[in-house]
Amino acid sequence: MRYLDSKARSAEHLRAALPLMTRQNTALHPVSYAIWYEYVSGTNPDLNRRMQELTQHGAALDDAQTWALFRKHVAEPDNEAARQLSDGVTQVIESMAASAAQAGEDAARIDASLGGWVEQLLDQVQQEEQQPAPADLLQEVVANTREIRQVMDRLQVQLDASQGEIRRLRDEVQRARNEAFVDALTGLANRRAFEQQLDACIAAAPQTPAQLPWLMLGDIDHFKAINDSFGHVFGDQVLRAVAQTLKSVAAPEGALPARIGGEEFALLLPCATLAQAQALADQMRQKVALGRIRRGEQNECIARVTISLGLTQMQRGEGAGAFFERADQALYASKRDGRNRVSVLDSTARSGPQSPQLPGGERGQQQRTGTLHA
Ligand code: GH3
Ligand code: MG
Ligand code: MG
Repeated sequence: MRYLDSKARSAEHLRAALPLMTRQNTALHPVSYAIWYEYVSGTNPDLNRRMQELTQHGAALDDAQTWALFRKHVAEPDNEAARQLSDGVTQVIESMAASAAQAGEDAARIDASLGGWVEQLLDQVQQEEQQPAPADLLQEVVANTREIRQVMDRLQVQLDASQGEIRRLRDEVQRARNEAFVDALTGLANRRAFEQQLDACIAAAPQTPAQLPWLMLGDIDHFKAINDSFGHVFGDQVLRAVAQTLKSVAAPEGALPARIGGEEFALLLPCATLAQAQALADQMRQKVALGRIRRGEQNECIARVTISLGLTQMQRGEGAGAFFERADQALYASKRDGRNRVSVLDSTARSGPQSPQLPGGERGQQQRTGTLHA
């Protein structure tokens, strides 16, 4: 599973992606559509950053750039890691097989000559009535024993090198896999990791309603205005601060916090009650709202950051798409009703917040949790 957008939302993305696609120096093929679809949906922040760099000052993407972006940011990177691992392991195995074959040949050669000497020795012993073997024959046996040891030592060195190479490949694959599931800007799980966890969580969900997982979605309010007023780099700092806040509220629950789009976050709560989920969402809202953007020596407050949140519980037998869609509707209800609030949508509701929003207000202002300097 990769795309959770509803039909209506994906149609919006289609409308937004088409004019951008047609401006590029590429044919309108599915690979080009895939990267522009991801771009307008904002679900792949690393891809967006790279595309913005490449299309600065009106530059257009060519086919090679389009494919490179697709391969790096859209195609499953762990497949690429698996391919590299398989190539690497194949090479290592081939080299080990060659070493083993060489060692086998050497051993067979030495064995044949040793066999010959032993027979000669036995003949001489019989003929000379247990006289000691001639010194030159014994010296030859000693020399060949040394040769066996050298062959074995060489084989050992080759095996050690092969093992080192296997270890290096394993570490590399682990690193590539970790990177593929981590959002580079915030260090949170990225959308791909979130989707996998969501699937796993749904598959493992127990059948009792009280224990079914909750999903919280959050979207920073008027984030575009923050970027426009204070710059993109500052916007990135805000994203990192919000991510930290999400991490701090998620920690005691053992939940999965993720950045699933540009300024969109998710928190999956595999086992929580309504009261716990609601308390956690409001804590998140309040902590973000208490952050201030300050400037100058006077620490003058010039803006504040708020976040809207939507919360819903999974319904028994429900799939990831429907579960996510309802959480998105709850989030949309918070936006529609004035932002900086939490809306809960229960599984029987079609739209609109089921329980009243928790008050936005300024009630937690004393516990100042964050100040960002523009
Ligand atoms: P709303 O309250 O309705 O959510 O309004 P909004 O301005 O937050 O939403 P909108 O979707 O209009 O704008 C989102 C902005 O987020 C636009 C985009 O440039 C910005 N953005 C997306 N990814 C990043 C990022 O990685 N860094 C920064 N600084 N900005 C980003
Ligand atoms: Mg948004
Ligand atoms: Mg927003």
